[in-house]
Amino acid sequence: MKRVVIIGGGLAGTACAYVLKQAGAEPVIYEAGSELAGGASGNSVGLYNPRLSAHRTPESDFYCAAFSLAIRTFSSLCHSERSEGSHAKKPGDPSVAPLFQDDNVIDWNACGALHLITDEKRQKQLAQTIETWGWPDEHMRLLNVAQASEVAGVMLQHDALYLPQSGTVSPQKLCARYAQGVEVHLNAEIKGVSDVDADAVILACGMGLRRFEETRDLPLAPVRGQVTHVKPTQASQKLRCNLCYNGYILPETDGVHMVGATFQPGVSDDAVKEADDRENLEALSGVAPGVAKELEVSGHWSAVRVSAKDHFPVIGRVHDHKHLYVSTAHSAHGVIGSIVGAHLIADMILDRPLSLGKDVVQKLKPGRFL
Ligand SMILES: Cc1cc2nc3c(=O)[nH]c(=O)nc-3n(C[C@H](O)[C@H](O)[C@H](O)COP(=O)(O)OP(=O)(O)OC[C@H]3O[C@@H](n4cnc5c(N)ncnc54)[C@H](O)[C@@H]3O)c2cc1C
Repeated sequence: MKRVVIIGGGLAGTACAYVLKQAGAEPVIYEAGSELAGGASGNSVGLYNPRLSAHRTPESDFYCAAFSLAIRTFSSLCHSERSEGSHAKKPGDPSVAPLFQDDNVIDWNACGALHLITDEKRQKQLAQTIETWGWPDEHMRLLNVAQASEVAGVMLQHDALYLPQSGTVSPQKLCARYAQGVEVHLNAEIKGVSDVDADAVILACGMGLRRFEETRDLPLAPVRGQVTHVKPTQASQKLRCNLCYNGYILPETDGVHMVGATFQPGVSDDAVKEADDRENLEALSGVAPGVAKELEVSGHWSAVRVSAKDHFPVIGRVHDHKHLYVSTAHSAHGVIGSIVGAHLIADMILDRPLSLGKDVVQKLKPGRFL
């Protein structure tokens, strides 16, 4: 059985652990913080959407695959709880993530998403996206403003691209579920990989990758972000699906709407800021004033994403290091990118046929910056 050490306990690391464990390997997670999902993956509710693009590229192929694989994964996570074995915890064992009983342990809500068409440029882009992606109507279609309002449950002012299978999930709970039954070491910062005793090592530690000699030169940058929690009003609580624009608002979950998210490249400060709440609410007011009216801020959460120089994830084997792999730079799409990345790395470690095409694999690989 292959023992794989995974450094980092966010979406990227726990997704790798989940896929490897399912494939019969022995993953072990080392997380520097005191809990899983303590970094960028700590959001209580996140959205999953394909990253839409008007033209077919390796990037669009990656996000198409990622979106559809994420949905299949969420579905199987919500329907297989009781059939899986547990990992007995013995005194002195490292912490082993607990088993859950409820079916929807990841708060998955396939509520759909409307991408508002706020100007002519966006209209052209989205029409071209439909053409390029070639998805049937039941997965992607344009709606006029009346149809979009009907789907949303609130009055809108814009036509929209509708993706009925998009939705929300809890990244925090997803990490816990992915790590279920996996050996996890918390408060365990790893400083070097040369002495690690394993068949393979995966660096899934966000910006922390820059501290390892082997990956120091990767062109990664921090991107600070903040989501704003607001109390639902009579008008907003009717919202039934995600509204996406130059930001987003999600339907109420546990008495809160998430309004997000700021995106500040080059900023690595993760303190919450009132200015970010204002920015989030102003973006919403600009496109859906009826929904934004009288919303009150009830909380916020901020963290630092990681983005690569070319704004695409970095996933694959590290050049010149036979057993060292990387999954990072998931930027604003970690919910879907982490799971497809985990499958690709598992394919490589376990010598299976690769689940993504050659041009996508080339585009993702860490060595592309050399
Ligand atoms: C405000 C905000 C909103 C977002 N909303 C969404 C959304 O709605 N949908 C979506 O898809 N994405 C969203 N994202 C992006 C998404 O959260 C990230 O893409 C994702 O969390 C990245 O996961 P990761 O595992 O790569 O990084 P992280 O979650 O940051 O995990 C890296 C982990 O590595 C650990 N670590 C670092 N160095 C070491 C070391 N040396 N040894 C051991 N452990 C180490 C860290 O402690 C950390 O826990 C959002 C991000 C932000 C900030």
